[in-house]
Amino acid sequence: MDVLVFGSAIVDFVAYANRLPKAGETLHGHKFMTGFGGKGANQCVAAARLGASTAMVAKLGDDTWGNNYLEQLRSENVNVDFIKQCKNETTGIAQICVSDSGENHIVIVVGANNLLSRDDVIQAKVLFDRAKVLICQFETPLDATLEALRAFNGISILNTAPAVEDTPVDLIKSATILCLNETEAAITTGSEQISTLTQAKVAMEHLLEMGANNVIITLGAMGAVYARREEPETFIHVPAVKVNDVVDTTGAGDAFIGALAYFMAHYPEFPWHQHIGAANQVAAYSVRHPGTQASFPKLDQVNKLTE
Ligand code: ATP
Repeated sequence: MDVLVFGSAIVDFVAYANRLPKAGETLHGHKFMTGFGGKGANQCVAAARLGASTAMVAKLGDDTWGNNYLEQLRSENVNVDFIKQCKNETTGIAQICVSDSGENHIVIVVGANNLLSRDDVIQAKVLFDRAKVLICQFETPLDATLEALRAFNGISILNTAPAVEDTPVDLIKSATILCLNETEAAITTGSEQISTLTQAKVAMEHLLEMGANNVIITLGAMGAVYARREEPETFIHVPAVKVNDVVDTTGAGDAFIGALAYFMAHYPEFPWHQHIGAANQVAAYSVRHPGTQASFPKLDQVNKLTE
């Protein structure tokens, strides 16, 4: 198995209206859609689309949305043997209202995601023993995430999103790679907003000082930068693909991480800047297409790493 994801699955309910409702007000909207999301599932699907053999360890509710999500992941060829549907708990949902001017209100009820536990790591030992790359995020309980990272001997990618101000140092130290965007890097290091490569370099040094082994910071249209503890002088910028027709950047970060995991699992002999360059290409495809999981490409839709 190539990629194992230990993390979240959330269903998005999105209502579009001319403006956001005031407190207590009922508004008529003009469009509604549902989408499969949650950073964990997004990253897993991104890797699976490229051709990775994937499995997910996650918790859903014993409800219609849980059934639908399982079906969705199966249709993406994700191994769902260790995704449990919990009795008396709802599937994680995000209720989103978007106004015509692009403002939004979001209420997330993580539901069953909160029940992902250390015990789930132990029960899925067979997956942890087999996978080449593990991905975790911060949308499920952190003690279970730490257990997952500690139980794994391959390359682990910890996406510290959504960021928390006092990220436990044990988590930072336990992952092979800390991967986060510029906002998350600013929150984690307690620094000002990061908008230049110089600021990213300072944040990166801070994260290495906090105990990270290797760090990748994604910088939207600027691409990504990385540094490795074992090569203290490294600070490498891998520029993004230039995209003039951006349609929807939602999920770009998840496309990047899923792709990074796929390329690291499939081409371990390649240097990191090539893995990151290829992940930039996958993420660039995603920003040119609408939706989150819907925007993730198959391998033949992006230039191959080996070309
Ligand atoms: P999101 O929260 O929207 O999923 P993110 O904030 O976690 O994304 P970003 O740093 O914005 O992640 O983007 C991840 C990657 O997507 C970037 O490293 C880059 O490769 C690609 N990307 C994002 N925006 C653009 C863009 N406008 N043009 C080209 N590539 C982009």
